[in-house]
Amino acid sequence: MPKTQRWQWYVEEFAPSEQHHHAIDELYYSGRSAFQQIAVLRSPVFGKMLVIDGDTQSAQVDERIYHETLVHPALAGAADRREVLVIGGGEGATLREVLRCPDVVACTMVDIDALVVELSKRYLAEWSQGAFDDARARVIVGDALEFMRATSERYGVILSDLTEPLEDSPSNPLFNDEVFELIKSRLAEGGVYVLQASTGAAINAGLHCKMARTLRRHYAHVVSFVTHVPAFDTEWAFLACSDRIALAGLESARIDAYCAALSGESFFYDSTTHRRLFALPLYLRRMLAASGDTF
Ligand code: SAM
Repeated sequence: MPKTQRWQWYVEEFAPSEQHHHAIDELYYSGRSAFQQIAVLRSPVFGKMLVIDGDTQSAQVDERIYHETLVHPALAGAADRREVLVIGGGEGATLREVLRCPDVVACTMVDIDALVVELSKRYLAEWSQGAFDDARARVIVGDALEFMRATSERYGVILSDLTEPLEDSPSNPLFNDEVFELIKSRLAEGGVYVLQASTGAAINAGLHCKMARTLRRHYAHVVSFVTHVPAFDTEWAFLACSDRIALAGLESARIDAYCAALSGESFFYDSTTHRRLFALPLYLRRMLAASGDTF
C-alpha cells in the first residue's frame, strides 16, 4: 500500500460555505505587506500560485488564459495602441502580454505593492519573462489612483488588473463614478478601457453586473466577456469600455492580423476564441439587462 501523503492545504474560501482546497507542494513565501496578506506557493495541479488576501490571483498552468483575455481583445480593437497603461498587475504577466505587440511604444504599469512585484520577480519569473526589464516598460510602485490624478498623460489602452474591490482592499477606492470618469479622462480619443471585473457565473455575477451598470453611465459601449479560469474555479468576467470601439463585433480579419504580428506563441487568444469570449450565456445577458445595484 502506498503511504498516504500528509498535505498542508491552501484553502480558498469563496463564501462561508464554499471552499476550494489546494494541496501545497512548497510554500515560498507567506507574510503581510503594508497593504495586504501575500502568499506564493506551489500546488501539484496548478503549479506556482500567487495568493493575496486569501484570493488566488493567478496560477502557473493557466495564467495565460486570464492574461491573454485581459490584454489582447483591447489591443486588437484599439484605434491607437502605442501607449498603454496597466493599473495593478504586480506579477508582470499583463505587462508581458502587452509587450508582445510590436505597435506598443511604451507600457506604464502602476502597482501599489512593492512586495508583490519583488516576490513576482523572485519566484514567478515565468509570468513576466523579462518584461520588467524591457526598454518599453515603465514600472511604478505607487497608488494607481494617485498616479492617474497626477499625470496628464493619455493612453490608447488602459488595462485594470487590480485585486477584487473588497472593503479593506487597496483597490476598493478605484471603483466609483469619480474614478471611472478620471480613467476616461486619461484615455486618448477612441481609447479602450478593459478591466478584470469579478466572477461571471450564474451563482455569483452580482458584483460584475454592478460594475457594468455603473460603467454604462460613462461610456457608449460597455461589453462583458467571460471565460472559465480553472485556478479561479469559476467563470471569470471582464468589461470593455469605449466611446468608439465595440469589441464584441471586432472583425476576424483584424484580429487575425493583430495576432499574427505578436511576438511568441499565444496559448488561448485568437479570432475564434474572441467569438467565444463575447458570446455570453443567456443568464448573464438577462442579469446585465436587469436593473439593480450600482456603485
Ligand atoms: N488577477 C488578479 C485577480 O484576479 O484579482 C489581479 C492580479 S494583480 C496581482 C492585482 C494587483 O493589484 C496587486 O499586485 C495589488 O498590489 C494591486 N493593487 C491593488 N490596489 C491597487 C492600487 N490602488 N493601485 C495600484 N495597484 C493596486
